[in-house]
Amino acid sequence: MVFGNAPRALRPYICSSCAKSLKLRSRKFATAASPDIYDVACVGGGPAGLSLLTALRSSKATSHLRLALIESQDLDRVRKWNLPPDQYSNRASSLTPSSQAFLSQIGAWPHIDTSRVQPYHHMRVWDGLSSTARITFDSPTPEPAIAHMIENQNLTRALLARLDSLEPISLLDKTSVREIHLGPPPSPLTPEPTYLNLSSYPHVTLSSNQTIAARLLIGADGPNSAVRTFAGIETRGYDYNRDGVVATLKLPSSFAHHPSSPRGVTAYQRFLPSGPIALLALPGPYASLVWTTTPSQSALLKTLSPEDFTAMVNAAFRLSAVDLNYMFTLPSNQLSEFQWRDSVHPSTASEAKGEIPHLISSVQQGSIASFPLRLRHASSYTTSRIALIGDAAHTIHPLAGQGLNMGLSDSKALAEAIEYAVCHGADIGDEMGCLDRYKGEVWWGNQRLLGAVDKLHWLYSVGSGPVVGVRKWGLRAVDVMGDLGVKGWLMRQAGGL
Ligand SMILES: Cc1cc2nc3c(=O)[nH]c(=O)nc-3n(C[C@H](O)[C@H](O)[C@H](O)COP(=O)(O)OP(=O)(O)OC[C@H]3O[C@@H](n4cnc5c(N)ncnc54)[C@H](O)[C@@H]3O)c2cc1C
Repeated sequence: MVFGNAPRALRPYICSSCAKSLKLRSRKFATAASPDIYDVACVGGGPAGLSLLTALRSSKATSHLRLALIESQDLDRVRKWNLPPDQYSNRASSLTPSSQAFLSQIGAWPHIDTSRVQPYHHMRVWDGLSSTARITFDSPTPEPAIAHMIENQNLTRALLARLDSLEPISLLDKTSVREIHLGPPPSPLTPEPTYLNLSSYPHVTLSSNQTIAARLLIGADGPNSAVRTFAGIETRGYDYNRDGVVATLKLPSSFAHHPSSPRGVTAYQRFLPSGPIALLALPGPYASLVWTTTPSQSALLKTLSPEDFTAMVNAAFRLSAVDLNYMFTLPSNQLSEFQWRDSVHPSTASEAKGEIPHLISSVQQGSIASFPLRLRHASSYTTSRIALIGDAAHTIHPLAGQGLNMGLSDSKALAEAIEYAVCHGADIGDEMGCLDRYKGEVWWGNQRLLGAVDKLHWLYSVGSGPVVGVRKWGLRAVDVMGDLGVKGWLMRQAGGL
């Protein structure tokens, strides 16, 4: 019964006389079409939303809160997600050690299928216009790795499994948001203290016609966040006019990047003028591709035969930018074009030294897809009774593999702010009592990271002129500086430290 639960949810914050008053109101409301009241309602069950709810449920201080998740997709499909060992999802992310630590802390890591997770210990990053301008990152010890490659669905399935193992929350899946509005104005006849005043609570009308009200409404609903629109929070940024082309690739089995290999596993990224191309190892002979390129080149890549697509990926790691651009002008036959060009300038020496990846042998059927890339940052992450996390708050260029990690660090910071408010008897929907703490913890750090990644994108999209020379010199200098200075900073960002 809807309101019958509300006093339990509010117990930590209100005195017994207020609880009595709420109980009386509950009876009054229960007769009309009344909203279901929650402490925290989260719109969006991606990595950010699920990790926040799991963190709240797994902490002693916040485990009693009344929680709801509103998710438009069918969560049973997430629970049942299962691919054979020779197939990998094309949506995979590199998870930093601090994200991994957070997932362990909230009890989700043991639910991850680690046979499908690949740690990597080295990164090779180089300028597409100069093979000598390169930077190398090496993890000094096997543990921690620089990061772990994980399929996004492996992660969300684990978060959901952990959430299912805890005290149940209201999982409103296959349900989307129809409207968000504030509650009815308070009755002048029965004035209430602000924190019991439903007029300040966001009310969410769902596609099921149910209405829920929340002391704190979370927008974890991705880049086109309905919660952010309701809150009137502006975003700053622009479209990159670039697509992120993703695919699952296969290397020859003899070159499988096995974790026990003495060299460890290496991630590769080459900065081409149209954008970076990255090859990130998955277990066995598989790898995940993220190739930033122009919309027209991305459109061509998606029309190619698997053989020609594979040839383009190999060309992008080995041939000059001029050769590659020429191959983009061909409607087909990239394979034979690559074979003769590679035979003229073979890259076997660089391959033997591990400076470039091995030749890709094939692409998994149906795995090629593309996503438009955008930079967006919300001017604030909070307003009264509302907080944004994950892509609802920021979208970042994938070249540093940070988007999902930023969402997890938002969840961690928000869960801690809520925990602090609960322990100190503050209202979790209040900006001063709770939400400012969250915003203060993450906004500026995210702003710095978004700015740095954006500058890297622009620095490397310049194809000629003095910037190219400065860039070559700069990259070598950064590499020589070792783990101090800029290289150390880049390494800490990659590791989320
Ligand atoms: C090509 C590419 C490569 C990337 N690689 C990396 C990487 O290596 N490392 C990394 O850290 N990040 C990476 N990212 C970024 C990462 O994928 C995202 O940052 C992350 O998935 C965002 O998670 P989220 O939970 O905030 O949002 P989402 O995953 O978008 O989840 C939002 C959820 O909200 C639901 N929803 C939306 N609207 C509504 C509504 N109105 N009602 C109900 N439900 C709703 C959706 O169904 C969805 O489940 C990459 C991104 C791209 C495009």
